[in-house]
Amino acid sequence: MKIKLVTSAGFCFGVKRAVNLAVKAAEDYPDQTIYNLGPIIHNPQVVKNLEAKGIHPLDSPKDVDHGIIIIRSHGVTRQELSQLNNNPAITVIDATCPFVRRAQEIVARMKEEKYQIIIVGEKHHPEVEGLISYGDPDHTLAISGPEEMPVEVVKHQKKPHKIALLAQTTQSYENFNRVAECLLPLKGETRCFNTICNATSDRQQESLAIATETDCMIIIGGFSSANTTRLYQLCKAIQPCSYHIEIPEQLQAKWFADMHTVGITAGASTPKWLIEKVIHEINNLS
Ligand code: SF4
Repeated sequence: MKIKLVTSAGFCFGVKRAVNLAVKAAEDYPDQTIYNLGPIIHNPQVVKNLEAKGIHPLDSPKDVDHGIIIIRSHGVTRQELSQLNNNPAITVIDATCPFVRRAQEIVARMKEEKYQIIIVGEKHHPEVEGLISYGDPDHTLAISGPEEMPVEVVKHQKKPHKIALLAQTTQSYENFNRVAECLLPLKGETRCFNTICNATSDRQQESLAIATETDCMIIIGGFSSANTTRLYQLCKAIQPCSYHIEIPEQLQAKWFADMHTVGITAGASTPKWLIEKVIHEINNLS
């Protein structure tokens, strides 16, 4: 069976940077306890490997009063960050991806300029919670799509308004544009900021192209990874034989019966070694 691998599959720039910073911290501070606030990336296998190097996950900054703390690639809330920075016994290593940081800065600036801020994304995702924390709580909200557009916003059609629109980095352009289209007929000013990460959209486009050319698609990545789940949904919409797995052991031989070509893609948090193990296992099963 022929295997086609999406060339942009796996670690993106931000994740690579976060993992490298974590590994370097373990080397630079061998005698100190190192924590990462929330999983540094959404891949349980990588998190396990980092734990073996002495880097421990931490749910809340309230749980520690000293040590080295690494901020995950998709950021934390403004309150959490300042709480950590204000503790002299804590050294903060900020591995927030520069693309996420830029979106946080846009929210902070739009707050200063008194815009109603709308973020297109999953409201309970840590990245979105982080973005919301940089805005004014009464004028910053997250919606998953145009159907969640609040009546208050639409009601202001008759009055000029100031709306700033941005997106969680893993959003699709299609969904973001649908929300933007709802706002354009409103009177006043709507500012749209493209905060979608190209690493995500490039990987999505390449994966879709491979999904149309193959008999089956395997999408590798953490089940809690937003970008992997999105990748799976997009592939599944055009290739019904699409399967989301975290580890090679989850592959099933029956998926490959009578298949001639299989496409492989992976989310931004999936390491190269895991992709190689999956390819090896598919070759064994077919
Ligand atoms: S997916 Fe994009 S925004 Fe997210 S960590 Fe990677 S490079 Fe940064």
